[in-house]
Amino acid sequence: MEQLYADYVVIGSGPAGQKAAIQAAKLGKSVIVLEKSPHPGGSSLNSGTIPSKSLKEAILDLTDFYERSFYGQNRVVREISINDLNYRLNIVLDEQRKMLLRQFEKNKIRLIHGIARFNDKNRITLVDHKRDPLFQIAFEHCLIATGSKPRNPINVPFDKEKILDSTLLLAIDHVPKTLIVLGGGIIGSEYASFFAALGTEVTVVDKRDHLLPLLDHEIGMHLQKALTSIGLKFVGNQEIDSIKRLNEHVEASFKDGSSIQAEMLLYALGREADVDMLQIEKAGIQLDKSGYIPVNALFQTVVPHIYAAGDVIGTPALASTSMEQGRLAARHAFGAQTHHFPSFYPIGIYTIPEISSCGYTENELKQLGFRYEIGRAYYYEIARNQIVGNDPGLFKILFHAETLEILGIHIIGRAATEVIHIGQVAMSFNARIDYFIDQVFNYPTYAEGYRIAALNGFNKVKHRK
Ligand SMILES: Cc1cc2nc3c(=O)[nH]c(=O)nc-3n(C[C@H](O)[C@H](O)[C@H](O)COP(=O)(O)OP(=O)(O)OC[C@H]3O[C@@H](n4cnc5c(N)ncnc54)[C@H](O)[C@@H]3O)c2cc1C
Repeated sequence: MEQLYADYVVIGSGPAGQKAAIQAAKLGKSVIVLEKSPHPGGSSLNSGTIPSKSLKEAILDLTDFYERSFYGQNRVVREISINDLNYRLNIVLDEQRKMLLRQFEKNKIRLIHGIARFNDKNRITLVDHKRDPLFQIAFEHCLIATGSKPRNPINVPFDKEKILDSTLLLAIDHVPKTLIVLGGGIIGSEYASFFAALGTEVTVVDKRDHLLPLLDHEIGMHLQKALTSIGLKFVGNQEIDSIKRLNEHVEASFKDGSSIQAEMLLYALGREADVDMLQIEKAGIQLDKSGYIPVNALFQTVVPHIYAAGDVIGTPALASTSMEQGRLAARHAFGAQTHHFPSFYPIGIYTIPEISSCGYTENELKQLGFRYEIGRAYYYEIARNQIVGNDPGLFKILFHAETLEILGIHIIGRAATEVIHIGQVAMSFNARIDYFIDQVFNYPTYAEGYRIAALNGFNKVKHRK
């Protein structure tokens, strides 16, 4: 078996692994990335972020979604086939994979395909899919960036046709007429809204009484209303008992004795760390109670020269945060100046309509006892929104009622995941709400929503004084 050495061995080529590898290479280190899948890029590129967001954009375009407000909900749009969607998806995936390989090549990062397993805390054996050894690799520092996989219970009969998780869903051969989505978290809500926009009759079932409990409550209510208006049905307070395939249909039965049927079912009840076959215990590392690799604030595991970053360490489990964790981990490993992971960062949820937020929710402020005020701008007040299709939406800015410091920004509606960054930057400079009033914004833009919301909020505290 061939013996290799690298200053830095990165296990996994998803967002965390990529950014760590590139950072270490930029610091002049020799880097090897190990990847068990034939396609590099991790679940972000191959089954998660990029496929789902590509499908969303394809659906919005091909169904003329934003034309509906001009020409009516019942405007006849040609039927969209799975081939129409996959055509666009494959172009994006192809380009992204090529770009990733170019970056690795440019930075002299060696990518080797195979399954990594620790022998001890200084060496890894890479094996093929028959478990035959390929290489033994020694390292100075290592990053575990093996990501996550759908948490699929063994009693659910997953297949490639009807009973699906978010990875299997990408291989369906037609758009279903009816779909059950189990789980109203981010992945479930996003796909539910995409299929509803395509014209599928979608029922989302969750054990809680509303979708996406992590959201500011008011934004969550807006989402539920917007989704209902495109035909999505939400059934709350239901716990799954069993899932069965009945010839052409799937039946989901619930603990209260009720059941529903649909042509397909998407099981979206969480993900778990992907540490299968890694043998982390041989390196002296154990999973925590939630099944993730525990790390300190600098992403070191209990073995200081072995780091972990991305989904494998648990929440927030986003591609965006994983990239930054990976970069910071590599900087720390090689003694480059670094900082702690930012205490606030944006969260983007690409439902239709999309949502993005940064900072505290209103509920959190209540619990913490803040004296806060709210500035709101509804999308119907924003000229840009009328020009491109009058879709529902809201800017909600929470700020301190006395110091005027911005405490939280929550946006639902078109372009939310882009415009949030204006607010994020302002918050990172401890801006006050009147900052947005004193700026000139391009007109007509969605960004102008900040100014309208700031004026709305500022006028409330001004009149109170
Ligand atoms: C449907 C869906 C939609 C999403 N949408 C978004 C979004 O819009 N925005 C966002 O920020 N995040 C999104 N996410 C989350 C995002 O995809 C993950 O947070 C991100 O991929 C995590 O990156 P990672 O590098 O930790 O792991 P991953 O991307 O999972 O990569 C891990 C890699 O490690 C490899 N690996 C595992 N074990 C081994 C081993 N033993 N040896 C060698 N290789 C191994 C795997 O094959 C994989 O390629 C979404 C996720 C899903 C599922």
